[in-house]
Amino acid sequence: MQTRFTAAALADPDTAAAETVIRKCVHCGFCTATCPTYVLLGDELDSPRGRIYLMKEMLEGERAPTAEVVKHIDRCLSCLSCMTTCPSGVNYMHLVDHARAYIEDRYRRPWRERMLRALLAWVLPHPKRFRSALALARLVKPAEPLLRRFPALKPLAAMLALAPSILPRKAQRIGAFPDVIKGRVVLLQGCAEPVLRPQIRPCAARLLIAAGYDVVLADGEGCCGALVHHMGRKAEALDDARRNVDAWMAEIEGQGIEAILVTASGCGTAIKDYGFMLREDPAYADKAARVSALAKDITEFLAAIDRPPASTPRGLRVAYHAACSLQHGQGVTDAPKRLLAEAGFEVCAPREAHLCCGSAGVYNILQPQIADQIGARKVAHLERLGAEVIATGNIGCATQIGVRTATPVVHTVELLDWASGGPIPACLSRRS
Ligand code: SF4
Ligand code: SF4
Repeated sequence: MQTRFTAAALADPDTAAAETVIRKCVHCGFCTATCPTYVLLGDELDSPRGRIYLMKEMLEGERAPTAEVVKHIDRCLSCLSCMTTCPSGVNYMHLVDHARAYIEDRYRRPWRERMLRALLAWVLPHPKRFRSALALARLVKPAEPLLRRFPALKPLAAMLALAPSILPRKAQRIGAFPDVIKGRVVLLQGCAEPVLRPQIRPCAARLLIAAGYDVVLADGEGCCGALVHHMGRKAEALDDARRNVDAWMAEIEGQGIEAILVTASGCGTAIKDYGFMLREDPAYADKAARVSALAKDITEFLAAIDRPPASTPRGLRVAYHAACSLQHGQGVTDAPKRLLAEAGFEVCAPREAHLCCGSAGVYNILQPQIADQIGARKVAHLERLGAEVIATGNIGCATQIGVRTATPVVHTVELLDWASGGPIPACLSRRS
């Protein structure tokens, strides 16, 4: 795509990087067919190609974002399906991340939106605040159908719908070690995941320990920054990234860490991009690149190491939901399915497996109507498989799908751990 950026605009390294991305787009439109919002809404401006054009116009002329442009960029899920489809290697993620930050700096949203976004950024990345918010949400959850009737209160209703009715107990710290240590890995402790599903990390740790890996929980680590990054709050996201780089570099240099493992694929995609996010920071660029190179999804790592075979194969039929952040953001597609099949599960995949479930970080709160329709479509495809359980690798997807189906939804490592002698996942034990 031809561009006419001014020299002043290109002086900003993020705009210069965006221009490089835009120039790669050849308008072919292959990406439109695999974009969930285009498939649903049928509007070119809600397709990757249309959004690239809108972002080009906005950034090229250093224009103030208009309400129309903001609407179409906000409707993008950042699912990155378009990146998988694009034959020209357009890095849509870096482009839309910059556009969101540009909009955040220059566009004044209606006060309700500003309040909601500020609240989400203040609560979700902090486990203690998030836990307290969920405890409060349980009390007002019965009012959700009433709130849903008022358009202005739909985001609040969406939050209540996603809040669990029972707040899980906190997980214990990992206090076990392998008999013979083959290697040492950091396991991301996360922010929202341990509050919503505290059992996931211990399952991952047991699998790693059984394979001979010492599991390190790094002091000083916090949220990966993805949630605020996707809302355009760049400074907060970079602060989160720097804090985590510091925490992990201390372990990497002190203990010889082999990998930084992530059980929430949305976080994994962000951490694998730290090297790009901090490329202009001389104090962090090299360290961030090193951290990104070590970051791996838990299934990506488990599939690449020698592990003991499943001791107690369960033979259940599992519908595997590929999280966008895992399949499109990280290109990890076969590993989770292969691990499940090797552990004795019958694995099946739904139609339109490449399309998002509508979770997309806080998208299902900020864009509840679209997220509802995308979520219903995804769940219909999953339920058609007649599986006994749905497995996925991202807490956001598990929550988005879980509130729309009676079929139990678990993290892939919960099933792998169960097949290796670990406890039965709680939602399966309640049904047996
Ligand atoms: S990231 Fe997803 S929703 Fe956004 S333009 Fe690409 S395919 Fe469409
Ligand atoms: S597939 Fe790639 S090159 Fe073609 S329109 Fe979409 S982003 Fe542009």
